Amino acid sequence: MRAAKTFAACKNMLGLFAGRYGSRLVADISRNDILQHMLHLKAKGLSDRTVFNHVARINSLLIGNGTARVLRPADWPRYDEKVVSAYHPDQVAKLLQAATTRQRILFTFFLATSFREQEVTHCTWDDVDFRNKVISARSKPAYKFRLKDKEERSVPVPDSLIKELENLKAGSQSSLLFPSKSGAPNRHHLRELQRLAFHAGLNCNSCVTRGGQRCSSKAVCRRWGLHEFRRTLATSHAEAGVPATTIQRWLGHSDLTTTLRYLAAADLRSDRTRSQVNASFSFLEEPECR
Ligand SMILES: [Zn+2]
Repeated sequence: MRAAKTFAACKNMLGLFAGRYGSRLVADISRNDILQHMLHLKAKGLSDRTVFNHVARINSLLIGNGTARVLRPADWPRYDEKVVSAYHPDQVAKLLQAATTRQRILFTFFLATSFREQEVTHCTWDDVDFRNKVISARSKPAYKFRLKDKEERSVPVPDSLIKELENLKAGSQSSLLFPSKSGAPNRHHLRELQRLAFHAGLNCNSCVTRGGQRCSSKAVCRRWGLHEFRRTLATSHAEAGVPATTIQRWLGHSDLTTTLRYLAAADLRSDRTRSQVNASFSFLEEPECR
């Protein structure tokens, strides 16, 4: 079963397509219909990456129904892979300084486990091995939550986080680590992060949402996302010399290429790269003061 969010997204993508061509038989959908739909999505302001996802979803539906491939390779929307960004240690330190105790534990947890949002939302005390200082991501049928690729994984976390979790557990009434006020899985971690970043004065002050809200005056900065914690952890471990295959296992990437993409971005900004680049260009003279 797909996660509810993914399922809703797929339903929405196909729903938009069905809204235009729903009365047709699947076998009658032509290349031109899909191209028209792509233009329509672009006109609605969707990014090339999102249009690509829509087309991929429609395409797999058609192929699943026995239709021959209707799109030509050149028809597919082209997009540039986004540069993987991680938080700088100073940013994380400032964020945590402005946080309440619960928020500090929550966002340190995101950082130290590298769990995905849904994995944190559904993490229970049974998943925390206090003795070995290891935390596991597992499916939770009771909440209809399934892990991506269905693969459980365990990650080692620092002693300091385990200590904080012991304190949190002592005051907890829930089986979940970070429940909502009503005790249900909390689905508002992103909103909480963005509010905290705004409060801490960490917004980039230059981004604007699709709805026209500016991060210079609202808690909507796109620089602050939960996924960036995963990238930050990958960067920290890579700089500390942890092998890429180990980082891949901890992040739960099914494909090493994804992990390497994270690490390439980290390497670009590392101190080692900086000294290498400066050494390569050491023949350039220092600018003279006049
Ligand atoms: Zn911003």
